[in-house]
Amino acid sequence: MIVTSALDPAIERPRIERILASEDIVAALPWHSMNTSAATTPAGQALEATRPRAAAGSRGLDRLLSTRADTVGERELPRGSPDASKRSDAPRRPRVVIVGGGFGGLATARTLARSDVDITLVDRTNHHLFQPLLYQVAIAGLSPSEIAAPIRSILRRQPNVSVMLAEVVGVDFERRRLRVTGAELEYDFLVLAAGGRTSYFGHDEWAAVAPGLKDLDDALDIRRRVLMGFERAEKELDPARRRAQLTFVVVGAGPTGVELAGAIAELARFALARDFRSIDPSAACVLLLEGGPRVLPTFSPKLSERAARQLARLGVKVRLDTRVTSIDASGVQTSSDRIDADTVIWAAGVGGSPLAASLGVPLDRAGRVLVEPDLSLPGHPEVFAIGDMAAFLHQGGTALPGVSPVAMQMGRHAARCIRARLAGGASSPFRYTDRGTLATIGRSAAVAKLGRLELSGWPAWIAWLFIHIYFLIGFRNRVVVLLEWAWAYFTYQRGARLITGRKP
Ligand SMILES: Cc1cc2nc3c(=O)[nH]c(=O)nc-3n(C[C@H](O)[C@H](O)[C@H](O)COP(=O)(O)OP(=O)(O)OC[C@H]3O[C@@H](n4cnc5c(N)ncnc54)[C@H](O)[C@@H]3O)c2cc1C
Repeated sequence: MIVTSALDPAIERPRIERILASEDIVAALPWHSMNTSAATTPAGQALEATRPRAAAGSRGLDRLLSTRADTVGERELPRGSPDASKRSDAPRRPRVVIVGGGFGGLATARTLARSDVDITLVDRTNHHLFQPLLYQVAIAGLSPSEIAAPIRSILRRQPNVSVMLAEVVGVDFERRRLRVTGAELEYDFLVLAAGGRTSYFGHDEWAAVAPGLKDLDDALDIRRRVLMGFERAEKELDPARRRAQLTFVVVGAGPTGVELAGAIAELARFALARDFRSIDPSAACVLLLEGGPRVLPTFSPKLSERAARQLARLGVKVRLDTRVTSIDASGVQTSSDRIDADTVIWAAGVGGSPLAASLGVPLDRAGRVLVEPDLSLPGHPEVFAIGDMAAFLHQGGTALPGVSPVAMQMGRHAARCIRARLAGGASSPFRYTDRGTLATIGRSAAVAKLGRLELSGWPAWIAWLFIHIYFLIGFRNRVVVLLEWAWAYFTYQRGARLITGRKP
């Protein structure tokens, strides 16, 4: 059933009363269909917002049927509405709206689990994505469902949260309303956790020929391009074209670039090595271009050096101090030469979310929202920006790194500030606790900085492996990923080598 207009109580009441009387309300009500229309239909949104209370019986039913407003939330009736009187006696719980079901947004929602608030979490996708393992999808090591989980299912046991699938298009700070596609949501507290986006440093035209890696669509696009490179080369008779088809360029030697380059080299040398007849996949050329003087510039020079050695062992050619000046469908022009390559992957820049740019608030050069010490927006203590979307300059003067622990700690802190304000107190300044950084390069190859301890090679790889399994959401995902990795480790194979997508 698709809800396309406000519900008519006369028609819907008897039907819903029957459903509420049944034992399995969640199964009986067509929530999924309602959610599909939630982004555009006030009635659908209202139903979704009241879902946790529907089981409470007719009081929940009254609320369910009487909501008419073009805003979402069960008590947001327009002034003068005939239904307003029915609910005026019910004390209104503070409304917390969270934008984004990534690391930051989920941490905020979970920290408020026991708080007396109504939370609406809005995301334009229906899943939480574990971005640190995206590169594994891009190189056919894992399938999308193994690194993502439906946000509804993650939060299903938290009754004070409603999840809405919708794109947020703006915020009216004065009226305290969030604009989502086709509707508005009122809030008392707003937490903006919309993440970031791939930045091409003013060359957005490169996106078509050099995809970045930010979401599942990007990962599947890269997987298709990489696997198609080998397929095309197998059919190619011209040696120069074949060389270009077997040349894979990764731009940017930060953690994502290093992971991708190492993984493509492993794919070529091991997983594909014996599967082709006309070409030798292990002869593929994997180039890692870096504009600066070393790989993994955020690690110590010693670990950068070790990472470069491990990349070389895998057959990755690293070119340092090499600036990319243009990219087209047949290759890359650098500050020193031209590289003919059919597959170019962009791993050089991350910028602020487009939503940040639409807010009309001060941003840093990367397009992230400049936040106060407590993570709130200047002049709007009820609005917080966290995670990749925020530039926090109050600890050491430079922005905190765009990594998941920062987003999670910020998410928890924003929730604590909200709780403090609701209790009549003041919010406190945020402080990030850095527990370490890791980057993987390939099989038994990684670097790690954990406190003062610097590791590389097998011990760092084992630490990387277990930390990622630990933070992956969902027991099933943890088990499946562990099994996939064990299988890949012993067989050198990749389990998700499918070419999908419209372009052949
Ligand atoms: C390829 C890659 C590898 C990485 N590897 C690591 C790593 O190894 N370790 C590490 O710590 N960090 C890593 N990171 C960084 C880490 O993933 C981010 O720092 C973290 O995801 C930030 O969390 P967040 O909540 O701010 O944003 P995100 O996790 O990006 O979540 C943002 C959410 O907001 C939603 N959204 C965005 N715009 C809108 C809108 N307008 N309306 C509605 N919803 C919206 C998105 O759908 C998304 O669900 C990696 C990132 C990438 C891309």
